[in-house]
Amino acid sequence: MQEKDEGMRKPLSDLSSRLFDILIIGAGINGCATARQLAADGYDVLLVDKGDFGGRSTARSGRVLHCGLQLLAPRSSVWEYLRRPEELIERIGMARRTALDYAELLGALGPRLRPMHVAVPIYRGGGYSGWQVDLGAWLIRCFCGGRNAFCYRRWKRPGGAPHALAEMFANREALGSVVSFVDQRFEWPERIAIDAALDAEEMGAFIRNYTNVGSLVRRADNVWQAELTNVPDDGQKITAQARLVLDLAGVWVDEVIGRVGGAGTIEKKIVCVKGVYVLVRLADKYRGAGVAGHNSIGEPITCLPWGDLHYIGPTETLFTRGPEELRPEDEDVRFLVQEINRLLPGIGVGEDDIVLAWAGLRPITAAPGLPKGKRLPFNVLHDLADEGLEGMMTLSWGIIVHHRSTARRIAAAVAAKIPPSRPSNAFAWLPRQFPARASPLLQPGYPTTLADLSFCIDHEHARDLVGVLFSRTGIAWTAGLTRPTLKLAAKTIGDSLGWSREETATQIHMFIEYMKIHHRYKMLE
Ligand SMILES: Cc1cc2nc3c(=O)[nH]c(=O)nc-3n(C[C@H](O)[C@H](O)[C@H](O)COP(=O)(O)OP(=O)(O)OC[C@H]3O[C@@H](n4cnc5c(N)ncnc54)[C@H](O)[C@@H]3O)c2cc1C
Repeated sequence: MQEKDEGMRKPLSDLSSRLFDILIIGAGINGCATARQLAADGYDVLLVDKGDFGGRSTARSGRVLHCGLQLLAPRSSVWEYLRRPEELIERIGMARRTALDYAELLGALGPRLRPMHVAVPIYRGGGYSGWQVDLGAWLIRCFCGGRNAFCYRRWKRPGGAPHALAEMFANREALGSVVSFVDQRFEWPERIAIDAALDAEEMGAFIRNYTNVGSLVRRADNVWQAELTNVPDDGQKITAQARLVLDLAGVWVDEVIGRVGGAGTIEKKIVCVKGVYVLVRLADKYRGAGVAGHNSIGEPITCLPWGDLHYIGPTETLFTRGPEELRPEDEDVRFLVQEINRLLPGIGVGEDDIVLAWAGLRPITAAPGLPKGKRLPFNVLHDLADEGLEGMMTLSWGIIVHHRSTARRIAAAVAAKIPPSRPSNAFAWLPRQFPARASPLLQPGYPTTLADLSFCIDHEHARDLVGVLFSRTGIAWTAGLTRPTLKLAAKTIGDSLGWSREETATQIHMFIEYMKIHHRYKMLE
């Protein structure tokens, strides 16, 4: 069957006669970053995703580029570390890696990051005291070559606080001090994944979204065969071949492993932990200020700046339903509203203040006896050769902060198995900008132009309104999207994709429903 040509999409049949070095299943932040690293190293890479690039957990993250300090905090008390020194050693190792990655990304991703001034209360009789946090901050500074890149400071004076939001902390009589530091927000992380996928493509990788991997077979000659179909399924089916398979399918890694014909019993690699965030408008005096603390069940809760708005979250609930059923539910929202008012009494956030919400699934490493998985370490690479699947590797709990160093680690593991088939590439990995062209703005106050929308279709593999308005331009993340803007965007995108009037109307309707269900967003008129 001949495939309908949509934008820049290459037909599935282009893949069937090629033998790739590496097949990467899953184009979230980890799949995209790894594809770019391997393409740079000279490997012939095929990167596929059953949805859009970066469109799943990566797009639903908490978006914090941590400086590493938080990782040194014990679960309940620093004295725990006397009983379990190995935990302290693990945390110091993770904090070091995070501090180094923070410094690397700060240099590399400047325009994609937003600084956030975060204040944390230190209560007398709590798990740690002020001087212990000072010590942790000193350690992070040492990891960064002595630079205080994260602007750490402790406010010891009673009542001292770095900003108006920190003045709202509960239980002020027990407040020993307040620390503040600068974390960064990935403005919208799926764009970072898309940039990486496009870099990989420019270096010769074959990248294809909306392409599902079905069954996987390892032939007697050690070549992997993967059955690929379009999403939605149009009846085409081809077999792609690769010398090595990287299963970077996030919360689907176990499902992908389950598709390998003849695989014995393979241990479950991940558990899904749902997290919800809500976006609210607070009083002007709180603009730009962020806080982090603990909720009533001892889990982290933050209220962080997002342009003129703030986002509050996350929740942490075990999720055992299918990922397709994921959405922010009433109970998630109620919980967050209750907890933020508990952390910051007087802030007066109500459910009606919420302008947008989202829910994501964390692919946390499965571990016996830990229903919500093993939180540390991050980025666990599993060589499935150890379990009988030679030439296949997978990753659990790969977070965004570490995506570049994780990609390098995966590339090193690949290099230990197979050599690249091409010379390596020298390539500048800079955040991509839309080409400057004279074109009307899509919506006043936001830099995206109509020409940018067409560019997303013609050069960035976008296929729908979500892919353009969220993932590639980020405009829908502002919570300011209006119905006229949506209509204009649909018309522009539809012109590039050849949508009829009826198709354009259907796409608009589907987008509004998507916003309602997945973002609790009511389109502005
Ligand atoms: C609520 C929440 C808060 C978080 N906060 C932070 C934070 O503040 N900072 C941070 O660094 N990290 C954070 N994370 C973690 C981070 O977002 C994720 O760990 C990371 O995005 C996972 O990326 P991934 O590439 O492994 O998975 P994903 O982004 O989910 O990508 C996997 C891809 O595999 C594809 N796929 C699955 N099956 C198939 C198949 N059969 N065929 C083809 N493709 C397939 C999927 O479509 C998907 O796109 C948070 C996560 C959540 C949910």
